[in-house]
Amino acid sequence: MFDKFNDECGVFGIFDHPEAANLTYLGLYALQHRGQESCGIVASDGVKLNRHRGIGLVADVFKNDSVFEKLPGRNAIGHVRYSTAGGTDIKNCQPILVDYHRGSIAVAHNGNLVNAPELRSDLEKRGSIFSTIADTEVIIHLLARAECETLPDRITEALKEVMGAYSLAFLTETRMVAVRDPNGFRPLVLGSLDGAYVVASESCALDLIEAEFVREIEPGEMIVVDKDGLKSYHPFEKRTATPCIFEHVYFARPDSTIFGRQVYQVRKEFGRQLAREHAVDADIVIPIPDSGVPSALGYAEESGIPFELGLIRNHYVGRTFIEPQQSIRHFGVKIKLNPIREVIAGKKVVVIDDSIVRGTTARKIIKMIRNAGASEVHVRISSPPTSYPCYYGIDTPTRNELIASSHTIEEINRYVTSDTLGYISREGLLKSTKCSMGETTFCDACFSGQYPVKFPRLNCKK
Ligand code: AMP
Repeated sequence: MFDKFNDECGVFGIFDHPEAANLTYLGLYALQHRGQESCGIVASDGVKLNRHRGIGLVADVFKNDSVFEKLPGRNAIGHVRYSTAGGTDIKNCQPILVDYHRGSIAVAHNGNLVNAPELRSDLEKRGSIFSTIADTEVIIHLLARAECETLPDRITEALKEVMGAYSLAFLTETRMVAVRDPNGFRPLVLGSLDGAYVVASESCALDLIEAEFVREIEPGEMIVVDKDGLKSYHPFEKRTATPCIFEHVYFARPDSTIFGRQVYQVRKEFGRQLAREHAVDADIVIPIPDSGVPSALGYAEESGIPFELGLIRNHYVGRTFIEPQQSIRHFGVKIKLNPIREVIAGKKVVVIDDSIVRGTTARKIIKMIRNAGASEVHVRISSPPTSYPCYYGIDTPTRNELIASSHTIEEINRYVTSDTLGYISREGLLKSTKCSMGETTFCDACFSGQYPVKFPRLNCKK
């Protein structure tokens, strides 16, 4: 099976600011939704790179002020990571930091390289010794072997070997480099603050530190920042850009602007389109919080059915909790969500969520809503059926586990026990993004099975 160690990550970088590490910490705070397993910062004082990283949330890993004393300098990059496999081993936390014959370099990566296992095995045969299981380390080894004179050329040479998704931030003693792969799968934005350049996975990180949004880093673009300012290169062969539609569906924060569009507005439009495609006679529209909220607002607006908060989410639930000895039914969902009986009882309810993956969440929530007295439960999903795994950096289970890969919509409807089930169409979804990106189309492989960057068969998730 394909290892996917850099799924769902966030990257941040800032060059030439007196509070570089501190602002990177804040940037990571804003990107916490992109990865909760581990995080880290590397800072440069112009001579030496220093790192602090750890397992856990940003607020925990950086809870002592003293940490920042160990991260001096005007330049820094940071990373938040979520991974499904490989356990929680600190050596896989990013940024990766290495010393090689040309000095030190650190890298933070969001995305997934589809040919990493082949490159790795090739490099190992040629003597490379890997110290992590992250596919990102392949880039470092390729870069260390590159014989070109300049850093941008070495990075280019390394990246020409890799296939797949990468939004990257590199830091050396004196330079910051940010690169987005030619397909532009993952977002990456450029900002400025008091004359310092900032890069971040999403614009919400710029907002928190009050940096100005300059523009998105383009697919296939490399930005190099040093004491002479910023230079932009387009070193790769041009391809049709295919940014990830699932960023708009679920992953990005609704207050971010990515791929030319504001995420909240796009999600609301998904909801409106869903209402046009799957109207139903009902009393209230309720979202599954938080991911279903913007689309539920759009659905309510378009249909004229009142929006209600029928499910309340506890925002303080960690990833694990100790269950009571005496079993409480559906404990896992119940600890996160609780229905308001007074809102739901006796009502015909439309429930909106962004996606159904395995189907287990929807099934439990519908039971919960029925127990709260709903007379009918109609489920509407603001993305098409998720039938195929992602190989470009969204954490999806294997194909067998995706309920839509082997069940019809009617079968899923029966499984999740809704009265009716409707998914937005693929055309409706794409139309609703209203993206003005020229030749750009979206990668919607998770819905269509059309993978824009091919990969060795070996790496397919069964
Ligand atoms: P499931 O129970 O497997 O059907 O999970 C569906 C829920 O997972 C939906 O409410 C989504 O909001 C959420 N979801 C969808 N994609 C992801 C993802 N890649 N990572 C974490 N949660 C997700």
